[in-house]
Amino acid sequence: MPYYGWDEEHLSLVRNTIQKFCQKELTREYVRWMDENVDFPSEDLWKKLADFGYFASGIPEEYGGSGPPVNPYEPLILQEEIATAAVAVMLGIGAAHGFGTGFISALGNEEQRREFLPKFAKGKIKMCMALTEPGGGTDILGSLRTTAEEDGNDYVLNGQKVFITGAHVADFIPTFAITEKNPSKRSEAWSIFLVPANTPGLTIRKIPKLGIHACACNEIFYDEVRVRKDLLLGRKNKGYHFLLGGGGAVSEGNAGEARARQAAMGLLNAERIATSLLSLGIAKSAYADALKYSLERIAFGKPIGQFQIIQNYLVEMAIQIENARNLIYGTIALSLMGKPSMIQAQMSKIVAARASEYCAIKGMEILGGYGFTMEYDMQRHFRDYKQMVFAPITDEMAVNVIARMLGLPKSY
Ligand SMILES: Cc1cc2nc3c(=O)[nH]c(=O)nc-3n(C[C@H](O)[C@H](O)[C@H](O)COP(=O)(O)OP(=O)(O)OC[C@H]3O[C@@H](n4cnc5c(N)ncnc54)[C@H](O)[C@@H]3O)c2cc1C
Repeated sequence: MPYYGWDEEHLSLVRNTIQKFCQKELTREYVRWMDENVDFPSEDLWKKLADFGYFASGIPEEYGGSGPPVNPYEPLILQEEIATAAVAVMLGIGAAHGFGTGFISALGNEEQRREFLPKFAKGKIKMCMALTEPGGGTDILGSLRTTAEEDGNDYVLNGQKVFITGAHVADFIPTFAITEKNPSKRSEAWSIFLVPANTPGLTIRKIPKLGIHACACNEIFYDEVRVRKDLLLGRKNKGYHFLLGGGGAVSEGNAGEARARQAAMGLLNAERIATSLLSLGIAKSAYADALKYSLERIAFGKPIGQFQIIQNYLVEMAIQIENARNLIYGTIALSLMGKPSMIQAQMSKIVAARASEYCAIKGMEILGGYGFTMEYDMQRHFRDYKQMVFAPITDEMAVNVIARMLGLPKSY
């Protein structure tokens, strides 16, 4: 393998182990059933993932975890394989566990880390990330309106969030809110609050959506929601810096090396990689289904996979998948070498989303009429990929970010 730090023997073992888990627990029938019947992966599945050791990995042993993975690529392989078997499950894990541990590991004070990380390690707690508002997700600095005002020992939150994945199952809702009315810069106005989901004044409404049904998103309404001051995560007015990678400056105290690295990468940069793996999973799954079908379906006395145009589609799918995987893993290799990887993280998001789009659309072509029925899984890939194109950042905005990093004038 070309990636820095790659250990073929160990990582093949990891891949085999997670594939076996997926073959047993995320069968095609079960995944289809989930898409039709649930709005979040079941507690039973969550427990199986905990027993597998997924949730403990990466959490330090002193906080109840199993410590860092043996090889830093391990989490990527686990995520890629789970997303290939069931993208909704991986999205649920990313929202409920990934965001939660990200917030607490990077920003939590010692008390919060002692309280929450052991629960995360056992899969006993869920969080999410409540950032986007109805005013718009792309211009997030310009559109955030939710406020948190100090009142005695509390902050009082008022406002609204939209599209928040997994909020309906979260125990705590990390919420971005304005704490500085007249900031020198808009980026110096936000703080993050760990809002208990059962706080009076907080209501959650599920939003029906086109795809990834087994991991719902929600609207959240904050009406005089009172949270204790000690539920402020990290430093006041530094929430935006955390989002984009402000490093140790956003967390209290002396952040350890891993914490600082995590915070420096920024929640959104990490999210870009995680989303790329979701896209890669959809692309791989659509490709596998299309390849299988092309070898079985007969037209003019031959398998359709013998026709040149179908081969072109399949080869282009394979190229796009390989490209996406190389960019994602290469981005991690760069960061492991301590080199800048922000541009590559944005590019990974775009290339992987486009791979999922190409594979789902051409997969539909290859299946012909059957692709359009609800009896084949291609329609699910076709519905699911769309979320990857605009969340967590739209491809258009990711292009804007790359353009600026390449030294082009800001277009917005
Ligand atoms: C299913 C789902 C799950 C989500 N989960 C979460 C979550 O868990 N937590 C969370 O906080 N958010 C979440 N989001 C929100 C997501 O991050 C936003 O939808 C995304 O950032 C886009 O924002 P928007 O939908 O408001 O589109 P808008 O910002 O309104 O953009 C609309 C269109 O205009 C384009 N556009 C805007 N500005 C520019 C520009 N300067 N240049 C070029 N084009 C531009 C966009 O690219 C897009 O095509 C989720 C969204 C969805 C749909």
